Amino acid sequence: MQPRDLSQHEEYVAGRGIEEVARELGRDPAEFVKLASNENPLGPSPAAVGAIRESADDVHHYPKAVHADLVAALAERWDVSHEQIWLANGGDGVLDYLGRAMLDPGDAVLVPDPGFAYYGMSARFHHGQVNTYPVEEADDFDLSPANVFETYDGERIVYLTSPHNPTGSRFALEHVATIAERTDDETLVVVDEAYGEFTDGPSAIGLLDERDDVAVIRTFSKAYGIAGLRLGYGVVPKSWADAYAKVNTPFAASAVACAAGLAALEDGDHVEETTDLVRWAREYMYEHLEAPTYESHGNFVLVEVGDAGEVSETLKRRGVIVRDCSSFGLPEHVRITCGTREETRRAVSELNEVLAE
Ligand code: PMP
Repeated sequence: MQPRDLSQHEEYVAGRGIEEVARELGRDPAEFVKLASNENPLGPSPAAVGAIRESADDVHHYPKAVHADLVAALAERWDVSHEQIWLANGGDGVLDYLGRAMLDPGDAVLVPDPGFAYYGMSARFHHGQVNTYPVEEADDFDLSPANVFETYDGERIVYLTSPHNPTGSRFALEHVATIAERTDDETLVVVDEAYGEFTDGPSAIGLLDERDDVAVIRTFSKAYGIAGLRLGYGVVPKSWADAYAKVNTPFAASAVACAAGLAALEDGDHVEETTDLVRWAREYMYEHLEAPTYESHGNFVLVEVGDAGEVSETLKRRGVIVRDCSSFGLPEHVRITCGTREETRRAVSELNEVLAE
């Protein structure tokens, strides 16, 4: 017996870790720096690590079903009601829940191309059809309602990533509002703000005051530095008060993750240190890379390098792991995560040398 044929699904390339790459090349892991998965170069907040240790003795118990403390903190942070916060196993888990909440078999969703692969995958798990809208290199990957309405055809969900992965561009808030306004009443606009802490633009969560056709995704994997714990949340329309209980996996987020998430949320200094570093690293890359870069609102920079497969392979052998964007349909681009100052300088100088060869 075989599971059902999922061959139509795109591959979600999560990127291999340093250990795996070092083993493949027969080298010492200490020689490598990984700037391929948009992780936090400063690591987790020390407060989150403390909370993980404290919660360790209690892990023989199931987590609290509601995680009231974390939900209350998030509801206060965004000035929404507790029922509007959907905790999940990362932003990816939120995407699954939104799919469960919205999609009947055969319903279509509209996703950006290039864009984050899991939108399409999670829709197909729910037997959804996946249509795309273009994000054009010729327009510097600019994002506006024109992109979406080039192909929009009444899909049940429209995904907007802002800041966008892998380009770093973003939708202005008024553009998100326009898209929600112009799409059908039965279309949910999902704004994925996984990289929201790295932009100075306002969150689309503010739109939920007035609208019930927008949901926003946020994660603790990036600015909060706890990707390994898998914690994210959705902020959903006010009118969806009872929906979470109908779609969530029992105990949707672990007790350890929620304890760490609450501590990380309260450690504003760590987030600020992270976002300051990211701003520095972006500027450093724009200024010092001898290849075209794109202005980024995320914790990464997209760089045009020619043959992305070859360049990323050569860089890897030099100890710098970046993301080859061929899998996004951008075979001439790599995406470099903002590292520490030392890591970022090393990546830039190695890439400049590779490009000069
Ligand atoms: N959205 C985007 C655009 C992402 O790039 C990612 C992860 N790289 C996610 C969502 C999901 O992140 P997580 O599940 O770790 O919260």
